[in-house]
Amino acid sequence: MGSGDMMGQSPYDYVVVGAGTAGCVIASRLSERRDVRVLLLEAGARDATAAMASPWGFLGFDPSSLWLGVSAVQAGTGRVADVLRGKALGGSSSINGLYHLRGHRSGYDEWPGLGVPGWGFDDLLPYFRRSESTRSRDGSTRGADGPVLVAPVPEPHPLATAGVEAAVHAGFTRADDITGGLETGFGWSDMNLPGGVRQSASDAYIRPFLDRPNLDVVTEATVQRLRLIAGRCTGVEYSVGGEHLSVGSAEVVLTAGAIGSAHLLMLSGIGPARHLGEHGIDIVADLPGVGSHLQDHPMAGVVYEASRPVPFLPANPPAEMMGLLYSGPAATRPDLQVYVVAAPLPSAWGQVPASGYSIAFSAMAPHSSGTVRLADADPASAPVVDPGYLRDDRDLEVMRKGLAVARRIGEADAFADWRKQEAVPGSGAIGESVDEFIRRATGPYFHFTGTCRMGTDADAVVDPANLRVHGIAGLRVADASVMPFIPSANTNATVYAIAERAAELLG
Ligand SMILES: Cc1cc2nc3c(=O)[nH]c(=O)nc-3n(C[C@H](O)[C@H](O)[C@H](O)COP(=O)(O)OP(=O)(O)OC[C@H]3O[C@@H](n4cnc5c(N)ncnc54)[C@H](O)[C@@H]3O)c2cc1C
Repeated sequence: MGSGDMMGQSPYDYVVVGAGTAGCVIASRLSERRDVRVLLLEAGARDATAAMASPWGFLGFDPSSLWLGVSAVQAGTGRVADVLRGKALGGSSSINGLYHLRGHRSGYDEWPGLGVPGWGFDDLLPYFRRSESTRSRDGSTRGADGPVLVAPVPEPHPLATAGVEAAVHAGFTRADDITGGLETGFGWSDMNLPGGVRQSASDAYIRPFLDRPNLDVVTEATVQRLRLIAGRCTGVEYSVGGEHLSVGSAEVVLTAGAIGSAHLLMLSGIGPARHLGEHGIDIVADLPGVGSHLQDHPMAGVVYEASRPVPFLPANPPAEMMGLLYSGPAATRPDLQVYVVAAPLPSAWGQVPASGYSIAFSAMAPHSSGTVRLADADPASAPVVDPGYLRDDRDLEVMRKGLAVARRIGEADAFADWRKQEAVPGSGAIGESVDEFIRRATGPYFHFTGTCRMGTDADAVVDPANLRVHGIAGLRVADASVMPFIPSANTNATVYAIAERAAELLG
């Protein structure tokens, strides 16, 4: 095995594992300090592909830019679900749906009560603002000079416009800034699409600084496990092109995403002791919460056959408007998302029309959760992912409300010029089949969080004060996996804020 250590000294102050949304922010901010030496390791390739730049690129990603996989069979849906994550410089921000949304403040304001004092909305606000740059919003709550350039799409798709009009006609509030975390209702989301081209976390935070002498970025480098000696993390073992290497570091920051970070901890002996023991892994720290509390937003859609051709606008993403609602009077915070997609979403319920559009809905405060577990002790084996979609019947109830809202909007006059018929689930009353439809049609939204959550209880994995892994020196986790509860929005903007804060905590 080769070694990156020099004369017993760690060559790096920080090794950051995984150049996704969080890893790009953290490596970039740390290397702003000239006295700090940073190594950023990423399993994916360095160069962005043409598909990554395009808002519709997700239709044609090279499989090499993805960690492809399927979940365990989901008790709540009866099927496996796709488990996708980005594998590239920029990670999932290089392949995601481009929505830039904060969750509603009420969601973050529940975090301190979950054992993470100092992580409410007002605490996160400076970091949301630091990460972003937007010109058209309220400067008192939104950022003006951050690296991530966000704005609504300049010319919305006519179906998205119909969606906002239909929602307002159906009685829902018109939101001025649905991205900001302070409003509910329907409006235009900000997108990571300056000039009609995707801006990933690597575009914003790493590519402009690749010539920094104190920042090394090594791509196609897959970390196998952590180096751990006497309760301290001293570096990582990784492979590049079949060669096994080892590098020392004063600190290691795990930013391999909610699935990758939990996987690496368990491969290294940090996790639920009994589970690790089953795979013959020596226990370094018995942290039962590693890999638990995996959350995603369950998502389904109503699909309409269009009465006329749906324009393909290559500079617009498939979805650009957004609604955030309370599912009912009992909801303590906005827990339902509804949005229009200018394309027929595939559905496990039945055939979708060639020309159509969809109204998607998703439970934003899911009660269901699941796990990431080892298939075996081989780092090359994909972990077993069970997001637990619809495991808890309360999520089914929110999805029923979502279906009703989506249909109410879809039936509104604003869609009269577009709607031929509801194709999925079908315009006839589906009566008692509603639950069956929801279970069959529900799939992933790819907002994986929570597997190394902050807290101080027995199930918590990292300390909320400094993101250190409990019981291990020199090791932090600072990505989507540390969230104590999934926010009420697509997760990328929240990961940017967490990572901005992490970079400060590491200082
Ligand atoms: C298909 C899809 C669509 C999405 N759409 C949206 C959207 O529209 N809006 C939104 O807000 N959010 C969206 N998300 C979610 C959002 O992109 C993620 O929440 C966010 O990017 C997670 O950031 P992260 O840093 O935690 O992980 P990631 O960005 O996933 O980064 C993890 C990185 O670690 C690397 N890695 C993992 N294991 C190893 C290893 N062993 N060695 C080396 N490197 C490793 C990975 O290759 C990856 O680059 C979407 C996600 C997906 C997958």
